[in-house]
Amino acid sequence: MAEKRDYYEVLGVAKNADAAEIKKAYRKLALQYHPDRNPGDKEAEEKFKEAAEAYDVLSNEEKRRRYDQFGHAGLGGAGGFGGGGMSMDDIFAHFGDIFGSFGGFGGFGGFGGGGRSARRVNRGTNLRVKVKISLEEVASGVEKKIKVKKYVADTHCHGTGAKDGKSFSTCSTCHGTGQITRVQNTILGAMQTTSTCPTCEGEGKIIDEKCPHCNGEGVMLSEEVITLNIPAGVSDGMQLSLSGKGNAARRGGVNGDLIVLIEEIEHPDLVRDGNDLLYNTFISFPEAVLGTSAEIPTLEGKVKVKIEAGTQPGKILRLKGKGIPDINGYGKGDLLVKVNVWIPKNLSKEDKKIMEELKDASFMKPTNLENKKGFFRKMKDFFE
Ligand SMILES: [Zn+2]
Ligand SMILES: [Zn+2]
Repeated sequence: MAEKRDYYEVLGVAKNADAAEIKKAYRKLALQYHPDRNPGDKEAEEKFKEAAEAYDVLSNEEKRRRYDQFGHAGLGGAGGFGGGGMSMDDIFAHFGDIFGSFGGFGGFGGFGGGGRSARRVNRGTNLRVKVKISLEEVASGVEKKIKVKKYVADTHCHGTGAKDGKSFSTCSTCHGTGQITRVQNTILGAMQTTSTCPTCEGEGKIIDEKCPHCNGEGVMLSEEVITLNIPAGVSDGMQLSLSGKGNAARRGGVNGDLIVLIEEIEHPDLVRDGNDLLYNTFISFPEAVLGTSAEIPTLEGKVKVKIEAGTQPGKILRLKGKGIPDINGYGKGDLLVKVNVWIPKNLSKEDKKIMEELKDASFMKPTNLENKKGFFRKMKDFFE
């Protein structure tokens, strides 16, 4: 994944450009690289998305301020993931009004107030994959290469479905607009209705001779290795979306997205609770009385933790910063260690004798109970 370009550079505006200049610059690019005017042109599609992303940030005061201060990193989250960005649907949903005032513009338009009524742009379906990652990988972030089977544009016909990419002609029914307009005289006067052209099904063109390699579909099933940059702090069930990495559309158009579902592999020792990790440690009764140290597994290897003399069962030790980094960069969780005291069973006669002596010893009597209430609350809250 290439470095992201500077948003001001993308829109070709100065750092101190005002809202109107930014809007104007974006509109110009959006029209230039619009998928309707550049069918099947991947580069134009990327440019179109890049401009939308830049506009999304620079047209928003808060996002622009963060971007000015921290650059791309200031936008946080999974922003560095894949294309980082917006799907075509997002763009039309958010910025459709940008095109609105161009509604009457030649054969173009239709993304304005009235919704998408112009020539249909095919959209590839989204592709879904599951990725299993370990807790260690969650903590550090990880790059994964996955192999996916998906539809890609056929190179023989450049995704058009027409032989050699050329063997098509403009639909004569709709003259390439993909839609037909009928005027009906009604009691209220002339009513104009627009519908999809039945001859070309809205594509605006007719294939004269089908591409033999893809049988006119413009796409082929292929295997591709995709590199996923999974940010630190993701969690089970989270979905990351890589815009444009899904299936190619039939006969040119816009790619679907690749949706990555995160599946967390259970850790043998540690339990995750949000950004915190939980661990149960067991010590013996004399160790609780006299103090000891316990070996605690963390995601960066084992650490030794001191357990004070007189530690009550259920005590929670907090290892600061040994948890999972927050996905939005707000620090790190902790590792909470619950100290459990192991009560032995199956004692021999001699063992029992020792315990009997202990039982009668005056120092063993539970007399110091003033913190009983608080202690119980902790027990109840933990691991429930
Ligand atoms: Zn037509
Ligand atoms: Zn083909």
